[in-house]
Amino acid sequence: MTRADTNYAHDGIATRAIHAGQEPDALTGAVSTPIYMTSTFKQDGVGGLRGGYDYSRSVNPTRTSFDEQLAAVEGAAFSMSFSSGLAAIDVLLRATMRPGDSILIGNDVYGGTYRLLSKVFVPWGVELDVVDATDVAALNAALGAKSYRYVWVETPSNPLLGITDIALTAQLAHEHGTKVVVDNTFASPILQHPLADGADAVVYSTTKYIGGHSDVVGGAVLVNDPEVADAVAFLQNAAGAVPSPFDSWLDIRGLKTLGLRVRKHSANALEIAQWLERRPEIERVWYPGLESHPGHEIAARQMHGGFGGMISVQLAGGPEAAQRFASSTRLFTLAESLGGVESLIEVPAAMTHASVSGTTLEVPANLVRLSIGIEDDGDLIADLEQALQQL
Ligand SMILES: *Cc1c(COP(=O)(O)O)cnc(C)c1O
Repeated sequence: MTRADTNYAHDGIATRAIHAGQEPDALTGAVSTPIYMTSTFKQDGVGGLRGGYDYSRSVNPTRTSFDEQLAAVEGAAFSMSFSSGLAAIDVLLRATMRPGDSILIGNDVYGGTYRLLSKVFVPWGVELDVVDATDVAALNAALGAKSYRYVWVETPSNPLLGITDIALTAQLAHEHGTKVVVDNTFASPILQHPLADGADAVVYSTTKYIGGHSDVVGGAVLVNDPEVADAVAFLQNAAGAVPSPFDSWLDIRGLKTLGLRVRKHSANALEIAQWLERRPEIERVWYPGLESHPGHEIAARQMHGGFGGMISVQLAGGPEAAQRFASSTRLFTLAESLGGVESLIEVPAAMTHASVSGTTLEVPANLVRLSIGIEDDGDLIADLEQALQQL
């Protein structure tokens, strides 16, 4: 497990992103953290490890550098990075749950998280229940009805951008002895600080905003509790889903500019969401920065400096219009995933959320999800306008 680099603890988030864990290389003074492409490390006599490095499944300096940096940006004591977001989620849950334990999840969590739980954890004896986590009364009733190890929260959620009050959820959950995990992938550590709001663990798919350039798949678990960090690090080493040194280097580079990017993603998205709301082809816009969004007030309190780059819209013309809209853009690329510098567009029911069709997590068929990039806002709006005109 890697501890945060606390040398910059009193500096701002942008300073931490650039300096924490990024001490110039001791040997050469290289300013950019070297990519330590090595599986093993010379020992100076048996057991004489240099800096604790023995084998790269257990520990690698490039990975350590990213873990120290991300933990410092998050304000967490510990960070462990993984080869994917789902590997991070899998290891956190497997390290801390046992057959017979129960987990309560929101009804619009990431489809892959639901698939992992329902298809892998449930057959192993973990009980899974689903609740509308944005509905405080329903959440409280569920927490009181059964003893849960975890409540799993995504806010903003995917794809409907539902907003859950993290501090209130943590307070209610803790009254019942339940811990709270927040998948903070959509907000990123720039806009939202779940641990400070009372959550017990944060997970990321670094594939999205943290990597930020659609060129790396990765994940991370961040916690303050040393016992949980120990258990996660143990299983990470025992099971082996570690990122490569090159993956870690891409994550380091992405994290350095995350603040700038997320502010531009958010500014573009707010402008585009307001524009979409005025279009007759659009039946409904889901964006937490809009006053029409049911979670706007909580989001305005809980998110700092923007509402993120994700927008979903429902097309008045139904599923066919949704598919045609998503296939008619010039700058928005039709693709799964999100959080990169380039704008993406997709139809969740047929693409990212196909695996939850027929479940309680099913999404509307006329929904189109937009990942707003950091291109010029006027160009993005012109592109969406010409695509809508083709309906
Ligand atoms: C993409 C994503 C994941 C899974 O991450 P991978 O890196 O694809 O394994 C988990 N949660 C959310 C919210 C995501 O968007």
